[in-house]
Amino acid sequence: MIQKQHIVIVGGGTAGWMTANLLAHHWQDQPIQISLLESPDIGIVGVGEGSTPTLRRFFQELGISDEEWMPRCHATYKLNIRFANWSPASGLPSYSHPFISQLDVFSEQAFYVNCFNRRLGLAVATDPEQFLLNGYLANMHASPKTEANFPFRVEYGYHFDSALLGVFLREHAKTLGVVHHAVTINSVEQHQDGRIARVTSQDGQVFEGDFFIDCSGFQSLLLQKTLQVPFIKFADNLFNNSAVVMPTGILPELPSETRATALSHGWAWQIPLLHRTGNGYVYSNDFISKDQAELELRQHLGLVDSDQVARHLQMNVGQVAEHWSRNCLAIGLSQGFIEPLEATALHLVQTAVETFIEDYTQGNFTNQYQQRYNQTISGRFEATRDYIVAHYKYNTRNDSEYWRANRENNHLSESFLQRQDVWFRMGDLGKEIARQNLSSMFGNTSWHCLLAGYGVFPALAAKQPDATTLARTDQFIAQGIGALFSGCALNFKPQREQLMRFAKLKEDS
Ligand SMILES: Cc1cc2nc3c(=O)[nH]c(=O)nc-3n(C[C@H](O)[C@H](O)[C@H](O)COP(=O)(O)OP(=O)(O)OC[C@H]3O[C@@H](n4cnc5c(N)ncnc54)[C@H](O)[C@@H]3O)c2cc1C
Repeated sequence: MIQKQHIVIVGGGTAGWMTANLLAHHWQDQPIQISLLESPDIGIVGVGEGSTPTLRRFFQELGISDEEWMPRCHATYKLNIRFANWSPASGLPSYSHPFISQLDVFSEQAFYVNCFNRRLGLAVATDPEQFLLNGYLANMHASPKTEANFPFRVEYGYHFDSALLGVFLREHAKTLGVVHHAVTINSVEQHQDGRIARVTSQDGQVFEGDFFIDCSGFQSLLLQKTLQVPFIKFADNLFNNSAVVMPTGILPELPSETRATALSHGWAWQIPLLHRTGNGYVYSNDFISKDQAELELRQHLGLVDSDQVARHLQMNVGQVAEHWSRNCLAIGLSQGFIEPLEATALHLVQTAVETFIEDYTQGNFTNQYQQRYNQTISGRFEATRDYIVAHYKYNTRNDSEYWRANRENNHLSESFLQRQDVWFRMGDLGKEIARQNLSSMFGNTSWHCLLAGYGVFPALAAKQPDATTLARTDQFIAQGIGALFSGCALNFKPQREQLMRFAKLKEDS
C-alpha cells in the first residue's frame, strides 16, 4: 500500500485557505492528506481586500463562479487603480493603472507611440486612461460582465471582505477533503537533520507531518522562528512600515476601482465593498507618528469628530532569504510582504502555490526543484518591489521630507536602473522588460502607465510641430480610440446593477 504524505498547513488566513484549496484541488488523485491548523485566538490580519486579475483564475480553477462567492463576501469588481496626487508636476490630478483587456490591442500601440513622441519632447497626449479601456469603464463604475454576444474579454480583479472570504474558502476546502483543526500551536519539534517533525498545540494535540506550510502571518512560526531563515528587509527603498485602518459606510456610487491617494507621509486606500468602504493610511513611522497619521486619515475621511476607533498595524516589508527550506514552505505574510500599493500580496500567494505545485509534482514530491523554486519566487518579489519603488522614486511632491527623501533615494536595483536608462535613452522599454524576463509581474503597459502618469518625461522641446499636425494626433485619440471606447461602453452596465442581480440569485437559491 502507498504511504500517504501528510501536508500540514499552519495558519488559516487568506494565504492558508488559498493554499489548502489549491493543493487539495490539484492533488485530488495523489496519496496526500492535507490538514490546516488555525488558532481560534490569534486573529487574521484582515486587511487584504483588493486583488489583481490572477484571483479570477483562482476561482476559475476551483470551478467557483462570481455569482457563487461574490455575494457571500460583499465583493465588488475592480478594473483599475486610480492614483491621485502622487505627481503634481504631471499636470494630471490622478492617473489610472488599468488591468489590460483584450480590446486594448487596438489602442495600446498608440499609447506607446505617443509616450515615445513625448519622450522626444513633443506635446502629445499621454494620459493612460485615454488609451486603455478599463480606465474608461472604471469612470462609469462599470461591471466587466457583458452579454454573450460581446466578443471581447475584459480583465478584472476584485475587492472583498477578507474575513468572509476566509470563511468561504474554509468551507470549500473542507469539501475537497482538507481537515481543519482550530488549535493554537505552541511548540515545534525538528528531526535531527533539521526537518520539521511535528507541531503541538496548547491543548496537547500532536500533528506529525511530512511537509509543513507556514501560513502563520507576520510571525512566521515555522520558517523564520523555527528554521531560522533570515528575513531580508526592503527598508532601504520602501520606507512604509505602518498602517492605520478605518472603514466607512458604503459609497453612493459603487466604483469599480481602488483609489490610492497620496497624503503627507504615504498614501490612503479606498476599497469599495457592498456593505462598507475599506480605508487605510500606509505610512512610515520614521517620518510621522502614529497619532499624526491617524489624525490625517480622519481628516482625509471627514471623521475628525467621530468616535470611531482606528486600528493600527505594523508591516514587515521584505522577503525571506529562502521561501522553501528543508520540508517547509512559507506562503503569505510569513514569506514576505511588499506593502499594499498595487495589491500584489494575494497574487504572490497564488502564484507561489501554483509554482510549488508544479515543482513538487515534477520533482516527484521531493525537494529536487527547491533551488529553482526559491530563485523564481524571490525574483517575483524583487520585480514587484521595483515597480512599487518607482511610485515613490518618481513622485514630484514637495510637502514633506518623506516625499523628498523618497525622490532622492538611490537604493535602486540594477534591473530598475537599466529600465530607467532605456526610458531616458528613447529605447524600447517593452524589449528591455522582455530581455529581463519581467513581463509576468508588471509588463510594458504597466510601466508606461506609471511613467506617463507621473509625467516622467524630458522638458518639452522648444520647437514643436505645427498645430495642425498635433491636432491630428488629438483627433485620432478622440475620434478613433474615444469612439471605440464609447461604443464598447454601451455593452457594460453599472456594477451595482450586476451585483444586485447576484445578490438576488443568492436569495432565491
Ligand atoms: C495594511 C495592509 C493592507 C493590505 N492590503 C492588501 C490588499 O489590498 N491586497 C492584497 O492582496 N493583500 C493585502 N495585504 C496583505 C494581505 O492582508 C495578506 O497577504 C493576506 O491577508 C494573507 O495573510 P496571511 O494569511 O499570510 O496572514 P494572516 O491573515 O495574519 O493569518 C495568519 C493565520 O495564522 C494563524 N496563526 C498564527 N499563529 C498561529 C499559531 N501559533 N497556531 C495556529 N495558528 C496560528 C492565525 O490564527 C491566522 O489564521 C495587506 C496587508 C496589510 C498589512
